[in-house]
Amino acid sequence: MLEVRQLTRLYGDFKAVDNVSFKIKKGEIVGLLGHNGAGKTTIMKMLSGYIESNQGMIEIDDIDLQQDPKKAQKNLGYLPENLPIYPEMTVADYLDYASEMKGLSGETKISEIKRVIQATDIIPKLLSPISTLSRGYKQRVGVAQAILGKPKLLILDEPTNGLDPTQTRLIRALIRDLAKEATVILSTHIMQEVDALCDRVLIIRNGQVAVDAQLEELRKSNHLQLATSLEKDELITLLQPLNDVIQIEETSTEQQVHLYRLGIAETGDHLALCGDIAKLIINAGATLFSINQEHRDLETLFREVNEAPIEAAGEEIQDAA
Ligand code: ATP
Repeated sequence: MLEVRQLTRLYGDFKAVDNVSFKIKKGEIVGLLGHNGAGKTTIMKMLSGYIESNQGMIEIDDIDLQQDPKKAQKNLGYLPENLPIYPEMTVADYLDYASEMKGLSGETKISEIKRVIQATDIIPKLLSPISTLSRGYKQRVGVAQAILGKPKLLILDEPTNGLDPTQTRLIRALIRDLAKEATVILSTHIMQEVDALCDRVLIIRNGQVAVDAQLEELRKSNHLQLATSLEKDELITLLQPLNDVIQIEETSTEQQVHLYRLGIAETGDHLALCGDIAKLIINAGATLFSINQEHRDLETLFREVNEAPIEAAGEEIQDAA
């Protein structure tokens, strides 16, 4: 659906986006995650055709954005970071104008406007001038215009920025719903947003892609957590036959409850190992308090990637598992 090759953008001498390449398949929700100034907005502006790249290529549904911008843009909806909204217009007039800009007219235009105002819950504000709207309502109007015409590709720059928790939930549910028919790329600096919405994350750092990974893969940890009455040397002896347990680290002890973090081989079957370890401990007459798979804390991971030396950032995330 979207292919980006070696995209680079300079502001003067400063490289805001540096040789970025990725592909996004139909129906994926991909999060661009990065600190302020990482280059997310610049990437999105280029994807939407709002600014040009200095180098590289963008294809939307096999149409080259630079060569045929009008045709490529027909397939996309864009929520910019700062919506160039006309303050004196009412919401209804603005959506009417935005629909016409997208080439909608007649019955289709009316039914599309009805659909987007319902989806973003802005009916009570339809006749209000945009200048009188709160930040959250302006954001919802921005999302409404982006989804007009059911675009195949949605580019959303910080879609829940400034929204209250209820509206954040509503917009996230809407994005998930839209992704059933469209491909979505959204930017954020909040890991929870990616966690709540995305299938895949691109972590952007200093204008480069530091990590490109499926969330499911990132969440997996090659560790189990175990609480037992066994002392460390007893546990090492007991688990000796299990070749997939490659490391045993005692993390704490409290009132004879020893907590361990067990490193598991890449090929190890976590669930089967939990069963095997439980059996061995119980058959040895020791107490098993708990055993479970460890889940990676994505927030910590994001911090590690951003704190790692630049060239090591991508590898760090793998090593952290
Ligand atoms: P944020 O989360 O704060 O929106 P971002 O990841 O979207 O940040 P960009 O807005 O793409 O980052 O900015 C990337 C870098 O390019 C920053 O260092 C920014 O200062 C710089 N930059 C962006 N726009 C311009 C511009 N028009 N002129 C000069 N520098 C710019």
